[in-house]
Amino acid sequence: METRLITGNEALALGALHAGVRVVTGYPGTPSTGALASLLAMEPDGVHVEWSTNEKVALEVAAGASWAGQRALCTMKMSGLNVAYDSLISLAYSGCIGGLVIYVADDPGVHAGMAEQDSRGYACMSDLPMLEPASVAEAYQLIQSAFELSEQVGSPVFVRLVTAVANSKAPVEVVRPDPPAPFPAREGGVPLSASGRGRGRGREAKLVRDITRFTKAGSAICIAQHRDLLARLEKAGQIIGEMGLDRLQLAPPHPSPMGGEREGGAGGLGIVTSGVTASYLEEGFEIAAHLWGRNQVFSRNLVSVLKVVAVNPFPAEEVRVLLHHCSTVLVLEELEPYIERGIYVEARRMGFAGRIVGKLDGPFERVGEYGVEQVVRGIGAALDLPVPEGLFQGDEAAEHLAAKRPITVCAGCPHRGTFMAINRAIRKSGYKKDEVMVTGDIGCTILGMNPPFHAIWTEVSMGASVSLAQGYVHGGIETPVIATIGDSTFFHAGIPGLINAIQHQVPLTLIILDNGWTSMTGMQVNPGTDEAFQQPGNRRVDIAGLIPTLGVEHFFVIDPFDLDEATETIQKALALPGVKVVLARQECAIQAMRQGIRAGKVRVVTENCNLCKLCITLTGCPALGIDVEGDTITIDPVLCYGCGLCAQVCNREAIERVSESASERLSDKVSE
Ligand code: SF4
Ligand code: SF4
Repeated sequence: METRLITGNEALALGALHAGVRVVTGYPGTPSTGALASLLAMEPDGVHVEWSTNEKVALEVAAGASWAGQRALCTMKMSGLNVAYDSLISLAYSGCIGGLVIYVADDPGVHAGMAEQDSRGYACMSDLPMLEPASVAEAYQLIQSAFELSEQVGSPVFVRLVTAVANSKAPVEVVRPDPPAPFPAREGGVPLSASGRGRGRGREAKLVRDITRFTKAGSAICIAQHRDLLARLEKAGQIIGEMGLDRLQLAPPHPSPMGGEREGGAGGLGIVTSGVTASYLEEGFEIAAHLWGRNQVFSRNLVSVLKVVAVNPFPAEEVRVLLHHCSTVLVLEELEPYIERGIYVEARRMGFAGRIVGKLDGPFERVGEYGVEQVVRGIGAALDLPVPEGLFQGDEAAEHLAAKRPITVCAGCPHRGTFMAINRAIRKSGYKKDEVMVTGDIGCTILGMNPPFHAIWTEVSMGASVSLAQGYVHGGIETPVIATIGDSTFFHAGIPGLINAIQHQVPLTLIILDNGWTSMTGMQVNPGTDEAFQQPGNRRVDIAGLIPTLGVEHFFVIDPFDLDEATETIQKALALPGVKVVLARQECAIQAMRQGIRAGKVRVVTENCNLCKLCITLTGCPALGIDVEGDTITIDPVLCYGCGLCAQVCNREAIERVSESASERLSDKVSE
């Protein structure tokens, strides 16, 4: 054993390794990215780790490995689960052979953009077990329990983290990962001992032929699988009980625990909580004791607590014990009231006469993160005790200290040139900005909605820009319609939309902002990334080679750092009929600079500058500034990538490119 300071994501990764995982797949998405990324960095021997094209593909790859008898982990953020769900519900019916764990990370409080989706609903909808660690250390332990549970039950098992656990760091006692024990022979399984690919980390790969399990060929098969799924969930509840994952602590019976008369059980206040909220309880109790303990109306020792780890199947037995024991039950859970609704059902079945305090009949809303404040306010509401005004004001004041500023693209980001070229092309085509729809997509592309560009109008989901644009055309918009999408997003879910546009010959201009990386989530490799950065033996899929094969008649490749040429090409595309694709290609500046590459060099010619600030206001480049005296434009030499866009918008030649040719720009190594 050794103690390591690790994040929740890293704890999951190490726990999975210790559990003997053989195949790990996923698609990057904050806050889940760190789990698979840390495994890629570790390069564990005998474990296949990949960023897949999208979450559905990732889940199917992991399921195939599980059906071959191996333990497999699939990672994604909550919105990725929507993409994977089509396969997931079918896989749930079929079940698994090797342990199959689906790690999904939710983002209450929306730290990373997108919907505040509560993925616990998917576990309920799919009748699959879901475990929810409350801390980094629990993440390490519970992912191992999840693999055990998955194999014992024969169902995929969810592990859900939220941002506050996935990205937090804590010291965790970890065991160095060991190869797992050989896979025991299963009835009907054919060992692939002769195949090199079948050999892996400890376990023998198996082939199991069973169409009643692995196909959906006929209603009888589907209904039998549905019954089997429900039986497996019930079995999961029994095993979770034997594992002792949900923890119930009952306070000793006491006559008048919190002051005043009460009805119901003899145990007074009971609290039900799950996930990260459980980790705020003790601090909340301390504050409550400080506020109300002096008046003998609150005592930690008189509170019963049920910490729910297995959010599905619902821990009905533990809840019934708690309801029998307590007169008031406070439910502390972020987002949707899944546990609370289950408690109401059990309360109704038991004829519980006490109070249930939560979201349905209490002080909480279904929006945002929980913290210590919700614990204290919840106790106050449950015991009818006033929370002093301003008690938590300090936190809010700190929040207000943060300067509000628009999120923009990095210095040297090639998307800057594309957004500027789009705006110019619209103007030069004789339209106002508000007359041309530009749909946007997930990733860095969406930053084009912010100043100074204000170019992008929409953001829905991966790939939606391409299909939404078609809807605008069919809806009767007669001005040009432009769709914008990043390279990774195009591979993920943009290709079907483009094929649809080609089939139905929808007049639109698709601009693919290809920077070669999945940048927004931390620079992951995608299918289009240069082959030098692909894993050994992997190949690059070049978008420039792919597009013409789809039957696109008008296909252009532009350099977004060449503003005039990029503008002219987009303008030309807007005027052409049918489906037009413009590939705006330049490597992500951050990644290029990490390789010691800059696009060029620029310098300010002070004597030409009249401080009109157009360079700053038109590009919004963070590398540009004004000196403290306010009399000259400055360029931060550390941030500046030398893209030259500022020089191209200055009409006084007050910013000069030191190196001009495109070939030079791309190979110009940082030398100072
Ligand atoms: S460098 Fe050019 S664009 Fe920038 S403030 Fe000076 S004159 Fe204006
Ligand atoms: S060349 Fe100009 S626009 Fe480009 S990164 Fe440098 S300062 Fe920013």
